[in-house]
Amino acid sequence: MQFLGTAAADVLPNPLCNCPLCRQARLHPTSGRLRSMFLLDSENLIDCGPDLAAAFMRHGVNAADLKNIFLTHTHEDHFCPSNAGLLTMSRTHKETPVTLYLSEMAYESVMRKYALLSREFPAADSIEALDKGAVILHPVPVGVPFSAGGFEVLAVNTTHKASATETALNYCFAKDGKSLLYACDTGYYIPESLELLKGSKLDYLILEGTWGSETGKDPTSHLNGPAFIEQLEIFAKYDIIREDTKIYCTHINHKHEWDHDAYQAFFHQNTRRNVTVAYDGLII
Ligand SMILES: [Zn+2]
Ligand SMILES: [Zn+2]
Ligand SMILES: [Zn+2]
Repeated sequence: MQFLGTAAADVLPNPLCNCPLCRQARLHPTSGRLRSMFLLDSENLIDCGPDLAAAFMRHGVNAADLKNIFLTHTHEDHFCPSNAGLLTMSRTHKETPVTLYLSEMAYESVMRKYALLSREFPAADSIEALDKGAVILHPVPVGVPFSAGGFEVLAVNTTHKASATETALNYCFAKDGKSLLYACDTGYYIPESLELLKGSKLDYLILEGTWGSETGKDPTSHLNGPAFIEQLEIFAKYDIIREDTKIYCTHINHKHEWDHDAYQAFFHQNTRRNVTVAYDGLII
């Protein structure tokens, strides 16, 4: 499994920003962050944001076997519909559609955009790909396990709002006795999602730590460093994580004071749990 991107929407360096973190990231390009995406294996990807092609190129990964994308929500850092054009432009992938798993709320949102674009811009890459069947939209219910891509998958709801009618999904994947929760984007977990995941004793937890040292933002929409640790203790109470669960912090915004090392030091100093601040290219 590999982190293909670990940034929030603002990417690091932001080409239009000259703050100290962006200047530092320009001097050390490997410390840069593209927008969050996570590769489960050669056939299964989580999210498909605007950096998809750049991320696969940067890490030398081939997506020619891609079959499934699990979409957390339709915010533009996670969902870039024009990526669908890459499928119809591929010389080898034409015959095999990619299934996009998404919430029923996200499905409604995508279909509204589809109705608008297919009327006004029918030649758009995303519209042609949908019309040609290169992408199949597969809405999934919350809290009902389903099989996909060789995994048992459970989607749970969050308080992270993508729009007035859509909140983000988080996905729990299980295979060969191992389990992983991709908790991004999310704020503090809601009771019904904690109940659904209760007792799961995860092997791997990937949790967003968007705001780092910034404490002035709403933790029901995104977590900061202290909220990340608080959320871990709530997960522990519900037996969702174990003492030895491997935990990764991703979806890191740059509008706060911590670079990668400072964020990692914060976890070393403030929790005994096994937390790694993820970086682009990190392989689990
Ligand atoms: Zn995001
Ligand atoms: Zn900056
Ligand atoms: Zn979001």
